[in-house]
Parts: sequence; C-alpha cells; structure tokens
Amino acid sequence: AKTNGRNQFVLYHDGMNNNGRHLFQLETALRKAFDLGEFALYYQPQVDMKTKQIRAVEALIRWNHHEKGVISPGQFIPLAEESGLITPISDWIIMQACEDLKQLQWQFPYVKMSINISPIYFQQIDFLEKLQKTIESVNVNPRSLELELTESAIMPHADQSVGRLTTLKTMGISIAIDDFGTGFSSLSYLHRFPIDVLKIDQSFIKQLSQYQEDLAIVKAIIMMAHSLQIQVVAEGVETEKQYQILEEQRCDFVQGYYVSNPLTIGELYEFLDMWNHF
Ligand code: C2E
Ligand code: CA
Ligand code: CA
Ligand code: CA
Repeated sequence: AKTNGRNQFVLYHDGMNNNGRHLFQLETALRKAFDLGEFALYYQPQVDMKTKQIRAVEALIRWNHHEKGVISPGQFIPLAEESGLITPISDWIIMQACEDLKQLQWQFPYVKMSINISPIYFQQIDFLEKLQKTIESVNVNPRSLELELTESAIMPHADQSVGRLTTLKTMGISIAIDDFGTGFSSLSYLHRFPIDVLKIDQSFIKQLSQYQEDLAIVKAIIMMAHSLQIQVVAEGVETEKQYQILEEQRCDFVQGYYVSNPLTIGELYEFLDMWNHF
C-alpha cells in the first residue's frame, strides 16, 4: 500500500508487476482486511420510471480501512481477482447481500437485490452450487435476486455461459448485463442469452443532453432491448435533464446520484421509508 500525490490510498494500478513484492504486500493487506471484517456493502436504489417505486438496490462493496478510511472497489477488486481472494470475498458478498435482502423484505417486499458477479467467480465450477446453498440457508426468494454480469464474463465461454444463465433463470434469478456498450457490444449475440435487463454504461449517460451521438446510442439500445423483451437500466443518472430524456425514450429504470448515492443498510431503510411517504 502506498500514498499518491493527492494523498489518496492506491492499492492497485495497471502497471504493477504481478510477481512483485507490492502485490504480495497488498494481498496480505487485503487478506487481513477480510479477517478484520473491514468490508461493507452499500446499496444504491434503482427507480422504476413508470411506477416511481424503488424496484431494486445494487450492492456495492467498500473497504473501510482502519487507517485510510473508505477504499473504493476499483482499487482492490482487480487485485482480489488476480490473487484468488475474489472467491472468499464474493462468497461473503453474496451471503451478506442475501441476509440484508431477507431483512429488508419484511418491510419492503417489492425490492430486489442486484449483485455484481466477477467474471472469474462466474466461471468457477462450483459457482451455481454455492449460490444455491446460500439461497437455501438464508431462505431468501430467488425471484428477488438479480445478478450483474459484464459481457466479458459471459462472452469468452459463450456455450458454457448459456448453460449457466439458463440454470439461473430456472432457479428464478434474473440476469442483468452490466456496463452495456463498453465491451464487445455485438448486439446480435444478445438473443442467445436469457437476459432480463441491460444496464447502459454511465459513459453514454454523462453527456446525454449535450451530444446527439450519445442520445442516438441510448435510443438504439433501448429500442433493441425492448424488441427482445429486455428491460433497460440507465446508470450514472445525475441530473433532472438526463432523467427527463430517459423518460422520453421509455427507459425502464434509472440509477444514479440524481436518485441516491450508494447507502449503508441503515440509510437505505430511512431512504425507502421517506421515498414511500413522498
Ligand atoms: P459498476 O457495477 O458499474 O457500479 C456503478 C458505479 O458507479 C459504482 O461505483 C457507483 O458508486 C457509481 N455511481 C453510481 N451512481 C453514479 C452517478 O450518478 N455518477 C457517477 N459518476 N458514478 C455513479 P463503485 O461503487 O466505486 O464501483 C465500481 C465498480 O466496482 C463497479 O462498477 C463494479 O464493477 C465493481 N464492484 C463494486 N461492488 C462490487 C461487488 O460487490 N462485487 C464485484 N465483483 N464488483 C463490484
Ligand atoms: Ca454493476
Ligand atoms: Ca455498471
Ligand atoms: Ca462500471
């Protein structure tokens, strides 16, 4: 671990040598963090534009470092993936998200839980079996679960992925494609996979009100998705203007700072209470 110029904690960067001492030290730090229980899940609400209800929350991991404060997942997930620690961390994420969902549903039964799944974890042989076990032990309704996978998680082993996604569908779990538009983006492959939701990457939303090109792409994605009976989430919605444009384009759901930041589980209860009384 080290500190960069802006006094920000940097754990990982692309130039780092895989076999270096650095990686070893950071891996040790990550392992220790796991043992100390320094990871926490935050939840970001998603609004259904038609009903104005909160349809789901996305679980986003944070590392509450005992000295450095909050560290974002972009700074440690890649390292966790390289070191193999992504497996115990993902096991924990799924268990924690299911337990929080179970509690949440006593009060807010319509809210779904959307969980990010690392490509490495998705491709592990015991992925489905472990997920099934967690669902049973927590006794949570699989119909309230959504898994977020990137194109890079499902494309490299397309045939195997179709099988896995089909099993997930049979279990009642819904499937979202994360960061859509940034990967292989072959729109034609989509119909091969049993996909419920596309999440349009924030990069297309950012300048939606300024650039005709971004609007054209967003329009095309929504039209294509709807023609395949797939629903659409716009990510990174920060302004009323963006919200309005997305509403005009019949986008199904929105997520972003305009609605809410990612919240602690305590804050989420308060948010949902307020939302319903508004
Ligand atoms: P993502 O899945 O695309 O998550 C969306 C990111 O956008 C989150 O960053 C969120 O905090 C941020 N965000 C939400 N609304 C806005 C907005 O209005 N404007 C802007 N500029 N940003 C917004 P975060 O939490 O730092 O996560 C970064 C990435 O780390 C995630 O991207 C995901 O790929 C990964 N990640 C986060 N949590 C998990 C996890 O539990 N498991 C796995 N495997 N990956 C995770
Ligand atoms: Ca995501
Ligand atoms: Ca995303
Ligand atoms: Ca992203």
